[in-house]
Parts: sequence; structure tokens; C-alpha cells
Amino acid sequence: MRYYPVFLDLAGQPCVVLGDGKFAIEKAAALREAGADVRAIPSREYTPGALAGARLVVDASEDVEINRLSWEEAEAAGILINVVDRPEQCRFIAPAIVRRDPLLIAISTSGESPFLASMLRARIERWLGREWGPFVALVGEVRRRLRKRGLPIAEQTRVYRRLLNSDVLSLVRRGRPVEANRLASGIAAARSESSGRVALVGAGPGDPDLMTVKARELIASADYVLHDALIAPETLALCGPDTRLENVGKRGGRASTRQANINARLIELARADHFVVRLKGGDPFVFGRGGEELDALERAGIDVVIVPGVTSALAAPAAAGIPVTRRGVASSVAITTAQGAGSLDRLADLARAADTLVVLMALGELSAVADVLGRAVGGSRPAAVIANAPLPGQRSVTGTLDRIARLAADAAIEPPATLVVGDVVAAQRVLRQTRAGTPAESRPEEVLVAR
Ligand code: SAH
Repeated sequence: MRYYPVFLDLAGQPCVVLGDGKFAIEKAAALREAGADVRAIPSREYTPGALAGARLVVDASEDVEINRLSWEEAEAAGILINVVDRPEQCRFIAPAIVRRDPLLIAISTSGESPFLASMLRARIERWLGREWGPFVALVGEVRRRLRKRGLPIAEQTRVYRRLLNSDVLSLVRRGRPVEANRLASGIAAARSESSGRVALVGAGPGDPDLMTVKARELIASADYVLHDALIAPETLALCGPDTRLENVGKRGGRASTRQANINARLIELARADHFVVRLKGGDPFVFGRGGEELDALERAGIDVVIVPGVTSALAAPAAAGIPVTRRGVASSVAITTAQGAGSLDRLADLARAADTLVVLMALGELSAVADVLGRAVGGSRPAAVIANAPLPGQRSVTGTLDRIARLAADAAIEPPATLVVGDVVAAQRVLRQTRAGTPAESRPEEVLVAR
């Protein structure tokens, strides 16, 4: 670490700004805003000795000779100095800041890239909206009250966590400070009803970048995250440092029993006042059993938040470059599964009814599925199987329905994989091959290994 970060209390402290230009004016203004007692010395008036008594100096004279003299003087007197744009003549450097008073975030690249520092500032500003200022002040107010009451630290932490997970922040954002204050006071006085809540959250198809902002925020602040087996470690790494993780994915046993256990666990944790995220692959309501969990939680009178995710039914074809609808080719999509009673009969009907058919959990029964679909819409209908989309191990095969199962087996495609059937598959393949300069006819089927 090249620099040691500190926030200085300069209230009433003598500080000097050298120079007359734009930088000098800006630096003096910023120091005054922090309460410093600023003396501005125009370049022509500076002589060695002028810095005597100062705590801190910014030399914005942009004059090499003055820079040298001021640096030597400050160093000799033990005064902190920053010579603008001369890192080798700086005892301190000024970070890019995000101001959400009283919250202050300082960003430094140790002088490597002011551009990146300001890009990061812009990102953090978007992430932490203006409401964070009043919110931090409100939490500070609560903290003073709790300390006065002598509440033990562990209890205090519980209150802060509840505040963070409550609607206080969004009330402040929506300009309703009175309600925000009332809710915060209730939480602080432990008067609020049980603050346990469950969020049913979609984690998207695996790549953490395809999670929603809301999903990221919730897993970062959850007390517990109950997740499926397939959630990527990179996604789980976004959980908060104190978040407890429970893998409730497939580990044998009857599905119904497992689901009942998961429902019971969610209810148990929420009743113990925890904020629980039930994190599911893709979207929680697309073959994710989110509906059953929602029913169970509502029956138990638990507050539920639902956060949709990017479903693999759309992300898997997209990752293979297959649009599920396409002007002039396909204007309807059906999403179904090959699992469960009667699914094969349903598949045939859906394949006839929709231009594009997306089949989840298709791999185990792929031969039977392709067979049924081939009889319904013809074995020459184009199809693709896409696995592990859109992850580094993504693989896909494309071909006709009557060959797709063989192709997937030969390519040793492994779950999780999604089957897409329809002319959109061929339309896309022609496009890609034409682009690559290969005539479509010469490669009727292919195996694609991404990245
Ligand atoms: N709720 C999930 C679907 C759960 S069913 C969602 O909305 O995505 C599980 C099925 O999803 C798998 O059998 C497979 O068909 C599909 N799937 C999940 N992850 C996938 C991935 N990374 N690539 C391709 N298909 C995937």
C-alpha cells in the first residue's frame, strides 16, 4: 500500500493554498467547506517562510520554481503538502470522492489513473443514490439512542441489520422522511412486528453479471441464503461476509419431502426475525418451485419479496446466438419441461402450436423427447441443445430433430442443458456460417464450444 488513507479534521485549522488559477480556487473552496481556515496566496506573493504555521498546504501555482520552494519549505517544517499534478512532491494526495454527507467515500488509484478513479466514482454514485445521506444520518441517530440506552453491541448490530433490510431506505428515496423515521424508531425500540422476511430471488443462468442489481443487493445483506446446488461459487461470493449459506439443492431423498423441508426452514428462519434469501437458478417462477414456496410462506403469514431473474429458457438460446423470436420466422415461444407425468404428450401439442419450443430438463429423456417432437412436427425441424450457458464451459450442438439426441450423446453434452426446437435455430446457423464464409449446406450440423 503506497498511501495511508485518513480523513482529516481541519475545522478551524490554518491551511494555505498557493496559486491563482482554477485549481487554486477549487482547492480553497473544498478546504473551506470542510471548515478549514484558508489563506490563499497568489503565486507572485509567495516567498519562502509564507507557509509558517500552516497545518496543510496545497500548491496549485503550476509554477515549477514555486513548487520546488514550497515543497522544501513544507518538508522542512513538517507541514503536509500536495503539489498539484506532481506526485513526487506530495505528502498526501486527494482522492476522488462520493459525497453523501455524512457518508463520504474516497477513491484512489494511488495516482495511477485519475480516469479510472472518476469512472468508479460515477459507478458508486449510481449505486448509492442521494438517499444514502439522510439514511446514514438516520442510522446515526438510532445509534446514539441505542448507546444511551446501553444496549449491548450484538443487540445493536441486530437493529442496524434490520434497518438496512427494512423499507426505511426506500421510504427516504421516495421522499417520505416522516414515515421512514417512524419505521426506524419502531425497529430501534424493537416495537416493530417480526422483521423476518423472505425474498424469492432469481440468480440468473449462472454468470453473476446476469443477476439483477436487486438480487445482488439482497444477497449482500441477507442473514441467510438458502440456495440451489447449481448456484455458481462466483455468485455465492457476492453474499455478505456474515451471511450464512445453506445449500438446499438436490442431495437425494424424495423431492416432495425436500420441498417441505425447505418451506419449513424458510418459515423457521423468518420467524426467528432473520432476513432470508431463497436463491434459485434462473427465474424463481420458471420451473423453480417458487410458487409452492410463496404459498407456504403466505400461509405462514411471512412477508415475501419476489425478485425475478433471467431464466435459462431465454438465456441459453441467447448465449448460443439463437433468438427465440425472429421477424418472418417465429412469432411465438413455448417453454416447457421434459420431466413429470404427461410431459411427452404435452410436448407434441406445444411443438405444433408454437413456432419455437424451449424444453428445460431435456437431457435425461432427449431421445424420447426428440422422437415425440419429430413425429409431431417432422424430423427435419432444426434443434439445438445448449449446456452450461453462458459460462466458460458452455457447449452446444445443433442439428435436425431426428439426429439431435445422437449428436448430443456423441458430443458428451452434460446437464444442465436446454433444448430449443424451431426454424430460428437454422436461421441463426445460416447467418453465422455465411458470416464465417462457409456455405450453409456443407455443415448441416455442428458442435460449438464457446470461449
Ligand atoms: N428456474 C430455472 C430453471 C430450473 S429447471 C430457470 O429459470 O432457468 C433446470 C433446467 O434449466 C435445466 O435442466 C436446464 O434445462 C435449464 N438450465 C439451467 N441452467 C442452465 C444453463 N446454465 N445452461 C443451459 N440450461 C440451463
